[in-house]
Amino acid sequence: MAPIAITPEPSRSATPQLKTPTTAWSPTEDNVSSLTLAGIEHALPSKNASSAGQAPLDASLLQIELTQSPRAVPAPESPEVAAQKTCTDHMITARWTLEHGWHAPELKPYGAFSIMPTASVLHYATECFEGLKLYRGFDGKLRLFRISRNCQRMRKSAARIALPDFEPKELEKLIIRLCAQDGEKWLPKERPGSFLYVRPTCIATDEALGVQRPQEALLYVILACFPDMTKSKSAPAPPALNGASNGTKKAPSSGLKLLASTEDSIRAWPGGFGYAKVGANYGPSLVAQGEARARGFDQVLWLFGSESYVTEAGASNFFVVWRNKTTGRLELVTAPLEERIILEGVTRASVLELTRSRLSEAMGDVEALDVVEKRFTMADVVSAYREGRLVEAFAAGTAFFIAPVSLIHFRGEDLVVPTEEGESGVYTRVVKEWLVNIMYGKETHEWGVVVDEVA
Ligand SMILES: *Cc1c(COP(=O)(O)O)cnc(C)c1O
Repeated sequence: MAPIAITPEPSRSATPQLKTPTTAWSPTEDNVSSLTLAGIEHALPSKNASSAGQAPLDASLLQIELTQSPRAVPAPESPEVAAQKTCTDHMITARWTLEHGWHAPELKPYGAFSIMPTASVLHYATECFEGLKLYRGFDGKLRLFRISRNCQRMRKSAARIALPDFEPKELEKLIIRLCAQDGEKWLPKERPGSFLYVRPTCIATDEALGVQRPQEALLYVILACFPDMTKSKSAPAPPALNGASNGTKKAPSSGLKLLASTEDSIRAWPGGFGYAKVGANYGPSLVAQGEARARGFDQVLWLFGSESYVTEAGASNFFVVWRNKTTGRLELVTAPLEERIILEGVTRASVLELTRSRLSEAMGDVEALDVVEKRFTMADVVSAYREGRLVEAFAAGTAFFIAPVSLIHFRGEDLVVPTEEGESGVYTRVVKEWLVNIMYGKETHEWGVVVDEVA
């Protein structure tokens, strides 16, 4: 294949790039790995090239076997829901082999798999996943939120760890079919405002210990009962406030309390796989997460490099609102995607798009905001805090949704983040309301994809 010259995207920030090659780079057979954006695009086969006669993933071939032993739906906020173990009656599975490609997908009773102890995923973390929610709207309809984005991201994540390619639209059809099957029973119409968690997953199942590209894989989709994290009480307050805030200040009782990562602990790095939703990103983060919880914090705020660039909070994207020192204007700021060290959240993209279109001018009493994706450091956050320019902060992702941040602990100092309206700041509340309205059908919007239930 002839290499195509790719002009690197111009950097949006004025500060120098993190370590990137200084010479012009274009993908060739020799230098392409999955390390860069160009590399990733290169590694994704073109849509029609279902390589070497392999069968493509095809939702129209779905085989259906309904359960003979229906499961009980747990009550909302019950211990079963909190335990995150209960799944609905059915699941989707699709097998892939190198010789054949994708076999006919199945919708079948939820249950255990059998894989060999030598299966690739158990040794080499050949796994990727997605997370989205199925919402029961206040108008009685079921909706998925921007599902096409999750399916496209899953394709990219799969490519990063040598799992087989598929047409995202086919995965989308399979997810919708499963939601249509189990939605009616598991999200009763009498419980508007509830949701199920949708977990598409792909694993390599080759029974061979050789370290090589997988030759067998299993794609599956399950629907799990999941607690409403926006209602759950956060971790106990940290014992005492340290640093600049003197002893007279009380630790906030609500909102996420974040513990900034230490210099010797990194979630993701340029050339790594932080942009991909692969299991390998999460296991190694659990030690830091456990330490944070043991010390009374909810999540780790992941920093990068000696400059302490702010990247993400737990498995959510992180936003701050501050007043720009030079222009005096309010800004909504989040880390950029270029370095590929953060996950490109669907929630993140939606917050950015909605804020750009709805708050470029003042909305009643709510002051307009500039929306900025750029690198920023903890030093920037600390100076905004000390100078009274820090307005609010929140985490954004499917699991925790839009969660106000009330405290950041960084290098021995507690920054008490303002939450102007008590539990949250104004912008956190406004952004959350916009999204809730779309997800639960209070506002008709193309992002809310209606699922027709199977009668
Ligand atoms: C899933 C995830 C997010 C949030 O993505 P959404 O699409 O908004 O749910 C953010 N960061 C990490 C590391 C994640 O795994």
